[in-house]
Amino acid sequence: MSNFNRTTVTAALIYANGPIHIGHLAGCYLPADIYVRYLRSQKKEVIFISGTDEHGVPITIKAQKEGKTPQQVVDHYYEVIKNSFAEFGISFDIYGRTSDPVHHQISQDFFKKLYEEGKFIEETTNQFFDESANQFLADRYIIGECPSCHQPGAYGDQCEKCGTTLSPTELINPKSTLSGNAPVLKPTKNWFLPLDQWQNSLEEYVASHPEWKSNVAGQVKSWLQEGLKPRAMTRDLNWGVPIPLEGTEGKVLYVWFDAPIGYISMTSQLTKDWETYWKAKDSRIVHFIGKDNIVFHCLIFPAMCMAHGDYQLADQVPANEFMNLEGDKISTSRNWAVWLHEYLTEFPDKQDVLRYTLTALSPETKDSDFTWADYQTKNNSELVAILGNFVNRAFVLIDKNYNSLVPTKSAGTGLEESLIKAVKEIPSSLSNALENYKFRDALVYAMEIARIGNKYLAEAEPWKLIKTEPEKAATVLNYAVQLVAHVAVALEPFLPFTSQKLFKALGSGSLDWQTIGDFNVIAEGQKLENPGLLFEKIEDEVIQKQIAKLQESKKQMELANKKVPEIKETTSFDDFLKMDLRVGQIVDAISVEKSKKLLQLKVDDGIRQRTILSGIAEHFSPEEVIGRQITFLANLAPRKIMGVESEGMILMAEGQEGELVFLSPSSPVWNGGKIS
Ligand SMILES: [Zn+2]
Repeated sequence: MSNFNRTTVTAALIYANGPIHIGHLAGCYLPADIYVRYLRSQKKEVIFISGTDEHGVPITIKAQKEGKTPQQVVDHYYEVIKNSFAEFGISFDIYGRTSDPVHHQISQDFFKKLYEEGKFIEETTNQFFDESANQFLADRYIIGECPSCHQPGAYGDQCEKCGTTLSPTELINPKSTLSGNAPVLKPTKNWFLPLDQWQNSLEEYVASHPEWKSNVAGQVKSWLQEGLKPRAMTRDLNWGVPIPLEGTEGKVLYVWFDAPIGYISMTSQLTKDWETYWKAKDSRIVHFIGKDNIVFHCLIFPAMCMAHGDYQLADQVPANEFMNLEGDKISTSRNWAVWLHEYLTEFPDKQDVLRYTLTALSPETKDSDFTWADYQTKNNSELVAILGNFVNRAFVLIDKNYNSLVPTKSAGTGLEESLIKAVKEIPSSLSNALENYKFRDALVYAMEIARIGNKYLAEAEPWKLIKTEPEKAATVLNYAVQLVAHVAVALEPFLPFTSQKLFKALGSGSLDWQTIGDFNVIAEGQKLENPGLLFEKIEDEVIQKQIAKLQESKKQMELANKKVPEIKETTSFDDFLKMDLRVGQIVDAISVEKSKKLLQLKVDDGIRQRTILSGIAEHFSPEEVIGRQITFLANLAPRKIMGVESEGMILMAEGQEGELVFLSPSSPVWNGGKIS
């Protein structure tokens, strides 16, 4: 860091098409905020930039779904997102928007410079077009099977399952999300950035950063190994930054072209010195993002900046992996998430408890899992039992015995010496962890001060000394107050609300990083103001309520997302009568050799035992079905399947989880009974 005089910290621009959940916070906003608060506390020059990404197909799709204009959607969510970040203590210096005219101007200037210097390839290519919607299908307007991991429902620009970046024509069985129809190919002109021409420079750039996190370096290297291809920087779409060229109506800049420029345009709205933060060699750029944005920040945006020539490349891109929730992937469409705006309402004044838990469970090197049980444990066993307990004991004793004034200390004993020594080692470990983006470790170091404080009070027992050795008691409590100040400074990046309470209680105002370990930072005789209990125990009922809420909303979403198949064409009563539906009983069942799906059943139809092959082997074992009464179609023409003649068909329905369910009579019926 020594060559740099200032730091430009960015946190991912989130699409303004929905609220914030814990996965977003843990993925990039919270680590970014911790990092920035740490730099500020060190009196380093730093700016913290983020905002909403208001272009791109996710916005237009949301607008279509809700019957609104894209502008209405982004206006609404910009406010929701901005407010919940502010309430949660994410301390952006500016929270901007990419629909801002300033952003349009700067993005267009960027594009125009590249265009005029011949940095793009103009190419007419065949793009998917939805004939019924009369629209080209950019990015997320097209879904299909991922060619890499074969997950269905991968988007035209990216597979969310395996993270592969795609172009729409690579999808297997592509479908338009507008009409559900298979699209046709139609020629259209777009401007491509020839990433292949920047391959060598990008390789050098990546190689010059051996300090990048292994998850980031791994993804970037696998991209480079595959070989970069030209990538379209424009789209056939009506929502976005218009291409600043004649005759390009109906086309806009690709959202991943203009979004990273958003960091720059937002900086320009924050300060007149914006160019220094992006162009000066002694400015250090750090992008905090989630793992799905790695390629855009480590390869595509750097290639754009290289092509442009004026901008510095990022020095660090400390991307996190994903956070899961209760063992399952966080999902907006299944409503499997803890939403920040709901948390803030349901847990008033508990921002720091969530900040603490999310940091302790941060997905720094691999995916992690948030559980409400962990949240409860972190609160009750760490925040209440360690931090809250230590601070409370110190303040209560001083209130009671010293009229809320910091007592006078005299020469310490061995206990104080080892205390000073223990705290002295913390700032460097803490700084080291923070500067290397190891926020989980850093939190442990910061909390260590509270642990030391607890241990110190337990060993020194000032409550006993007050009567027997008052000078010694005063000394212990003076040291305890100094420790409260140290913990307030060390925890400020993580728990800013708690730290502010402590600074107020100490009458000190915010303190600098350098005061950690300074045992004279709070003056003797200083009036203290007991902050009361910093944290309260969270009971089981509260946790169970949250888990029940999650389960319920998931169930509701699943039911809502369930598509009831359309009713078939009307049939006549006579046609219905032709079908002979009966009740029978499975008397024997065996697996069919070489078939994963089929069971060979013997069904008692009241007259004889007939053989029916049924595709239920993946749902039932032969033993499970023997003895069951079932319904079957008795007069279906016999068919030979895998060499066995099947005489009829068992009727099945699909259960809630996609499992198969027999249609059995609600009370026993004689075998061969007719259904009508
Ligand atoms: Zn995939």
